Amino acid sequence: MIMQKIREFMYGRYGTDKLSLALIIAGFVCYTLYVFSRFRLLYLISLIFYGIALFRTLSKNIDARRRENMKFEQFLWKAKNKWVGIKADFEERKTYKHFKCPSCGQKIRIPRGRGKVEIRCPKCSNRFIKKV
Ligand SMILES: [Zn+2]
Repeated sequence: MIMQKIREFMYGRYGTDKLSLALIIAGFVCYTLYVFSRFRLLYLISLIFYGIALFRTLSKNIDARRRENMKFEQFLWKAKNKWVGIKADFEERKTYKHFKCPSCGQKIRIPRGRGKVEIRCPKCSNRFIKKV
């Protein structure tokens, strides 16, 4: 009976997704921090996170919510890739030195222990001198 009512109420509404789940987790984290620190702003922020999650779950504008979730997943994907890159750079820090091309920002990896070298960017052919 109650389940039927809930189902009817949720009909045509967006429901939960990854972004709403992340908002609920963020709200929970803020609330937990508030409990330990008694810093009121954290409590307010946790309520805002819960409020947005609730609004999104009950929203009937399914297209807009889908777009938001897609952007969020793209952001997660980029953040994950960036982290994988940082980790890889860190793991090879003893054998390679990493530079960014000053003109185009291309990442360049040079083997260490060669003294001062002129580096030519493979992307824009800009030349610069660095110590490796
Ligand atoms: Zn370049």
